[in-house]
Amino acid sequence: MATQEQRTSISWDYAPAPESREHVRLRDSYGLFIDGSFQDPVDGTRVASVNPATEEPVAEVAFAGPEDVRRAVQAARAAQPGWAALTGLDRGKYLFRVARLIQERARELAIVESMDGGKPIRESRDVDVPLAAAHFFHYAGWADKLSFAVGGRRVEPLGVAAQIVPWNFPLLMAAWKLAPALAAGNTAVLKPAETTPVTALLLAEILQEAELPPGVVSILPGDGATGAALVREPDIDKVAFTGSTGVGKDIQAALAGRGIPLTLELGGKSANIVFEDAAIDQAVEGIVNGIFFNQGHVCCAGSRLLVQESVAETVVSKLWGRMERLRLGDPLDKNTDVGAINSREQLHRIEALVASGEEEGAVRRTVACSLPDRGFWFAPTLFTDVAPAHRIAAEEIFGPVVSVLTFRTQAEAIEKANSTPYGLAAGIWTDKGSKAFEVAAALQAGVVWQNTYNKFDPSAAFGGYKESGFGREGGMSGLRPYLHVNPRAATARSAP
Ligand code: NAD
Repeated sequence: MATQEQRTSISWDYAPAPESREHVRLRDSYGLFIDGSFQDPVDGTRVASVNPATEEPVAEVAFAGPEDVRRAVQAARAAQPGWAALTGLDRGKYLFRVARLIQERARELAIVESMDGGKPIRESRDVDVPLAAAHFFHYAGWADKLSFAVGGRRVEPLGVAAQIVPWNFPLLMAAWKLAPALAAGNTAVLKPAETTPVTALLLAEILQEAELPPGVVSILPGDGATGAALVREPDIDKVAFTGSTGVGKDIQAALAGRGIPLTLELGGKSANIVFEDAAIDQAVEGIVNGIFFNQGHVCCAGSRLLVQESVAETVVSKLWGRMERLRLGDPLDKNTDVGAINSREQLHRIEALVASGEEEGAVRRTVACSLPDRGFWFAPTLFTDVAPAHRIAAEEIFGPVVSVLTFRTQAEAIEKANSTPYGLAAGIWTDKGSKAFEVAAALQAGVVWQNTYNKFDPSAAFGGYKESGFGREGGMSGLRPYLHVNPRAATARSAP
């Protein structure tokens, strides 16, 4: 038995627990995935995708040019009638197969997601990859029941879907987009984000292994120019975009007058509201999960913390204590809580907004931790004395930075929470169910969590109000944007 003296000398430091890269077999270079095979770009380029934690290349990736985009759209058009003609049951079998293959390659996918994007392996392993598989499973189940999703009306697919995703949940966003589109009988051209294309290319390998018919899905890495070329293509029937509000507006303008249905999942500045009757310790865990999950690179991050004045001091002091224990560092270490910032550009954006917070008079506290020599890092940061007009209270920082505002009454909390051009998500922490329901009903937010935060499920709809976009992804509502619904003709059959 240890003596008192021995006990005090025990070191409780974490030993490194790095995930092994042995499970990963990346190619040196990836082509564009068009018509069922990896192809050299015709008018595109090749660039290295960089690991933001080390600044080393993960793999070389082809970026698509306009001619490449055209070829992918033509392949999707040619494949669409055959794909739609399959029974829903058969389409479901393909999706089911994709889900199973994601599960089989889960460890590899998680490691690559962390290498390419900088997120902690704990998150890619426990959230991104399992949820991506779950979305394919979920929509596999819907493929033969489409008319049930729309009140028994007759449904048809829209045709060719152009889908553009951001860098914060690369594989998961691809699954959110592809699974409902394919279940509904559409074919798709997916453009991953420029800084995180690699897991989408591993997904392309999985689609090959699942023997998905050629052309049903094409995957075209590229930057904004590739995305803009895809949106400009005349032969598309649907655009689904997840990304920033600015680019969402550009896409909306580019589609004006073309009669092409659009779904926009955009930015946010979500309020996480803590009432004085909340279980404070639980709320603090929820605040940490709400803003430091994925380094705050989360569209629905609880970046505006609204705390009732009577408990503000306690909440801030407990939150700060918890923040000081967050472990920042190697994304592949299983003990890491906060990984690398996704890119140098994003790091500069965070630094600029944080500097504006100090200039405008808010009080900044940043956790003192040693940052790795290479890579892009930002330590968890808390701002108090924040006024609603400060940029850090109004603009999306998309980093590990939380702005604390206070309120006195429920009405003031609602007013402050809604006082933003965005409307993506919110959190409510209270012991009173009636209060939670009353506040939730008054919040202009697509998702409201009660006594929890950042929980996702494939059966739950997700989407925004106001400048956070329109349309829903996930669940039954996620099918609707990919279907033509005949308002009158009811169908006796359960599948198109
Ligand atoms: P971004 O808008 O810069 O880029 C998103 C995607 O659009 C990328 O693939 C990019 O290459 C492409 N793109 C850029 N310019 C384009 C153009 N002119 N035409 C077509 N495509 C173009 O956003 P980002 O920085 O990659 O991602 C962060 C943003 O995404 C944040 O604002 C975040 O809130 C938002 N986001 C929203 C959700 C949601 O569900 N609401 C989910 C994740 C991220």
